[in-house]
Amino acid sequence: MTTLKGKSALVTGSTSGIGRAIAEALADQGANVMLNGFGDSAEIEALRADLAVRSGAMVLYSAADMTKPDEIAAMVTEAEAAFGAVDILVNNAGIQFVSPIEDFPTDKWDAIIAINLTSAFHTTKHALGGMKSRGWGRIINLASAHSLVASPFKAAYVAAKHGIAGLTKTVALECAEDGVTVNAISPGYVLTPLVQAQIPATAKARGITEEEVKRDVILAAQPTKKFVDVEEVAGTVLFLCSDAAKGMTGANLSIDGGWTAK
Ligand code: NAD
Repeated sequence: MTTLKGKSALVTGSTSGIGRAIAEALADQGANVMLNGFGDSAEIEALRADLAVRSGAMVLYSAADMTKPDEIAAMVTEAEAAFGAVDILVNNAGIQFVSPIEDFPTDKWDAIIAINLTSAFHTTKHALGGMKSRGWGRIINLASAHSLVASPFKAAYVAAKHGIAGLTKTVALECAEDGVTVNAISPGYVLTPLVQAQIPATAKARGITEEEVKRDVILAAQPTKKFVDVEEVAGTVLFLCSDAAKGMTGANLSIDGGWTAK
């Protein structure tokens, strides 16, 4: 299938986990893709080259740091110059830190707000004008079940995700007549490095074992008792990019196994 042939996408934080699956899905549908994120440079180059060959699309990589506004602006400019457009913007980069608020390191608060929320402000600010001028665009923000409900010990993450839900609605209203839709996707727990890394810290904060964290905290949140797969999130991105979703804007789509239905 080449339903997105001729379109170009920028996916922040796409060297791992959910973002990587989204970038692969978009390229497999024919879209040019700019990857972004941290990691081993040889592994990232292998990912970029493999995806380009497999999809036949143009696949590039930007090492821009989502805490640095200048690097974010340059990444959007580079994508527009290379592809001629950024039609699809997926704000996905994110980090987590788990701690009671009295001990929450201020630098971790600042980094989470910068990467999980403010970077989406900067990418949107720079990419939206082009989308409006072409009369077509899709902005998709990776929020979380934590954009709708809270959990203890995740002050910065929950604040950032509630923030991105508000940003999504605001930008949706600002470009509602321009052919540009802006939506959020709110997954429950997806077993990526981000979730793996928080299991020991959650065990410490709650005084329980890592196995108990998986069973009694993570999967207990989701009535399905299953992790969400990265492919489910990527499939929802493809749906939002399709004509079937052209009237859907300002929405926050849950994929959380029923977590926020409780
Ligand atoms: P991950 O750790 O697998 O991937 C995060 C990506 O962000 C990586 O590519 C990493 O290099 C990149 N990144 C981190 N800091 C960066 C920076 N300063 N600049 C540029 N890139 C940076 O995590 P994931 O689970 O795939 O999470 C992706 C998104 O999905 C995040 O916004 C996360 O909050 C959200 N989310 C995840 C889950 C989950 O259960 N995994 C649930 C809901 C929402």
